[in-house]
Amino acid sequence: MKVLVINCGSSSLKYQLIDSETEQVLAKGLCERIGIDGRLTHRPTGKDKVVLEDPLPNHTAAVSAVLGQLTDPVNGVIADLKEIGAVGHRIVHGGEKFASSTVLTDEVVAEIEKCNDLAPLHNPANLIGINACKELMPGVPMVGVFDTAFHQTMPKKAFLYGLPYEYYEKHAVRRYGFHGTSHSFVSKRTAEILGKKPEDLKIIVCHLGNGSSISAVEGGKSVDTSMGFTPLEGLVMGTRSGDLDPAILEYVCNKEGITLSEMTTILNKKSGVEGVSGVSSDFRDLGDAAAEGNERAAVALDMFAYRVAKYVGSYAAAMNGVDVISFTAGIGENDITTRARIMEYLGYLGCKLDAEKNNVRGEERIISTDDSKVIAMVVPTNEELAIARETVALV
Ligand code: AMP
Repeated sequence: MKVLVINCGSSSLKYQLIDSETEQVLAKGLCERIGIDGRLTHRPTGKDKVVLEDPLPNHTAAVSAVLGQLTDPVNGVIADLKEIGAVGHRIVHGGEKFASSTVLTDEVVAEIEKCNDLAPLHNPANLIGINACKELMPGVPMVGVFDTAFHQTMPKKAFLYGLPYEYYEKHAVRRYGFHGTSHSFVSKRTAEILGKKPEDLKIIVCHLGNGSSISAVEGGKSVDTSMGFTPLEGLVMGTRSGDLDPAILEYVCNKEGITLSEMTTILNKKSGVEGVSGVSSDFRDLGDAAAEGNERAAVALDMFAYRVAKYVGSYAAAMNGVDVISFTAGIGENDITTRARIMEYLGYLGCKLDAEKNNVRGEERIISTDDSKVIAMVVPTNEELAIARETVALV
């Protein structure tokens, strides 16, 4: 079956057409600036990239343009839209309602709408994508795959905050966690590579990208994760602050004369390694700046590794041990120096890095020494493939 995977943002839409039998990507691409002007970058496998600057006034126009390219006589990869057997949608927030992927019936879409409050920037965009596909591909089964679902196995002690309990009951304030599709995919793949069952392993997955999160996966289930009620909690990220003393908010708002909402934007978009370094959110730029003697870039990189190491330690404690630490996403897969910097902290766990094996980018590989008590690995994530698999399993 050919599965179209859609990841819709407020002004963007990423897509991949995947053949579920071979698991090959037939085409992928990105619509940007939807509602502003519009650009579609289409990459059919084995053919030249196409960039179209036609107007994309809304998401329906974007989906229509994508379907047009997929079936285009020159740039296309299928002859007819009927070849698309199902559509898998990435959905950011499923609240407590969705602990697994689900077929998108009208009732389910209405339930997802109820989660909009919890992810006001993301869920409405996801729903627009779903509705656009429903309109243009009537009758094609659609599946929703939630970023939060994998973490719904967390016990109450891990997902509750130390707040009045009524905030949980009345307003659903709790830890949800995100990047669940990636944490699930990488933990399963980690077990597969090692020839073990997920049930027999304690794995810490470090998803380190522009947004970063860590999860503790015990017996194949997420038991804790660093992102919380929103993706703002946890690690120091590209532009997000991660954990901080909540009292800082009121203090800085008063000092700077800004509103809480402006402060929240700063915590999401102007903080993290970019905010600390004043250089960039990209670890390649930070590495270059640090090498040229930029102290703030160097300290930002140190802070990042230190925070990751602290979370790894706390999750080893949460699971009373750890068998494997898997690195994934842009930084986890590609940043050799950052992995080495994190691993320096983990000697007490009996986790030893093999510097030569660590010299790898974007490939599955064990990077710890043969006598390391805890295995460290690079396991590239593939959220689109995970969504395609979930979609096929449900339709
Ligand atoms: P992601 O959000 O998973 O796409 O990760 C994007 C981030 O990965 C970028 O902002 C960079 O910080 C980082 N990254 C990507 N490639 C490299 C590389 N070769 N070396 C270091 N960092 C990288």
